[in-house]
Amino acid sequence: MATRPASRQRRASSAAAAVAVVRSSPQPQQQQLPIPQSGSPTSTTTTTTSSSRLTPELSLDGPASPLFAGLDEDAAPKENVTVTVRFRPLSPREIRQGEEVAWYADGDTVVRSEQNPSVAYAYDRVFAPTTTTRQVYDVAAQHVVSGAMEGVNGTIFAYGVTSSGKTHTMHGDQRSPGIIPLAVKDAFSIIQETPNREFLLRVSYLEIYNEVVNDLLNPAGQNLRIREDPQGTFVEGIKEEVVLSPAHALSLIAAGEEHRHVGSTNFNLLSSRSHTIFTLTVESSPCGESNEGEAVTFSQLNLIDLAGSESSRAETTGVRRKEGSYINKSLLTLGTVISKLTDGKATHIPFRDSKLTRLLQSSLSGQGRVSLICTVTPASSNSEETHNTLKFAHRAKRIEVQASQNK
Ligand code: ADP
Ligand code: MG
Repeated sequence: MATRPASRQRRASSAAAAVAVVRSSPQPQQQQLPIPQSGSPTSTTTTTTSSSRLTPELSLDGPASPLFAGLDEDAAPKENVTVTVRFRPLSPREIRQGEEVAWYADGDTVVRSEQNPSVAYAYDRVFAPTTTTRQVYDVAAQHVVSGAMEGVNGTIFAYGVTSSGKTHTMHGDQRSPGIIPLAVKDAFSIIQETPNREFLLRVSYLEIYNEVVNDLLNPAGQNLRIREDPQGTFVEGIKEEVVLSPAHALSLIAAGEEHRHVGSTNFNLLSSRSHTIFTLTVESSPCGESNEGEAVTFSQLNLIDLAGSESSRAETTGVRRKEGSYINKSLLTLGTVISKLTDGKATHIPFRDSKLTRLLQSSLSGQGRVSLICTVTPASSNSEETHNTLKFAHRAKRIEVQASQNK
């Protein structure tokens, strides 16, 4: 999601904003780490006042992620869209009810039907039920977060039916932190490890419910408009908070969740019916004497907990049917957009067909890194919905099952 990089001007003129620039702690004796330049700076890249400007190379070559670790560099996919599937374990209730396993992870890249082993789908990576969120993060998120710190836009989606593990994966809890807290901590660690640059981090948190954009950091910010200018799309009037520590950023999410409660009679229902987007906006510029002339970068990291993808056929009330049709449309559009991004040949990408894709347009297009994590349960009672998720993920990125994996 793009918002205006307004702080670029503000930073120069406002003392308050200047204080908010996050620097790594001074370590004059330490060897200076150059900022890695494996990604391309996207969005609006500005330059410093020096004329000897150095622009990071435009290249995504080489394995940026452990997803491709072990592969020959030349053989590593050059795409910047990864699609993975995460199984959750059967819940204690499902076990008590005698649920059986309908789908399972067959190795690291294939999901197979227990009932009909010839039905199988391949992905960049498949995470078995025993996988921890930390492991999911290392494979499917870390390269997106480090890219965002280097000026490359990044977007991570959790897609799946209600109860499949989207919120567990993105938010987690104290015992098992999700991708959002892990990403926020990682971002601040990267700042510590990059003494030759200074960073300004801002967060926003919004919800899309029935194609209406609401600001979760500002209860007055309801039904916000998505606007467009030559630099891309942005949400008009969204509140952005400068953050100075991981705890600060996470406290804002907690406050945002409180706002979701307001006015809703059934929080669980609402949470499965809306998309939430947590955006970390990163501005970075050189500091110290040796770096004069290096580019200032501006990028966004969008971390998204999507609405439940369950089919709405069974919905009886008008309100639920309306919600369901909005969700179906936006998820269908998302699938189409990602599949067109991965196939690389598409000329028209229908970003405008939903609010979700429209406001993510700047981040998804170009060299932005995208990670789609599809969550599923192995349970037989959910077999058909799981199959729908697997087909969605396969359509987003068509990876064929290898002959050696056929059964
Ligand atoms: P969703 O957000 O997709 O509706 P949740 O993330 O709320 O689903 O998960 C539903 C339940 O399953 C929660 O109690 C959650 O803690 C549990 N759960 C989900 N994924 C896992 C997992 N990988 N390991 C353990 N428990 C999980
Ligand atoms: Mg959820």
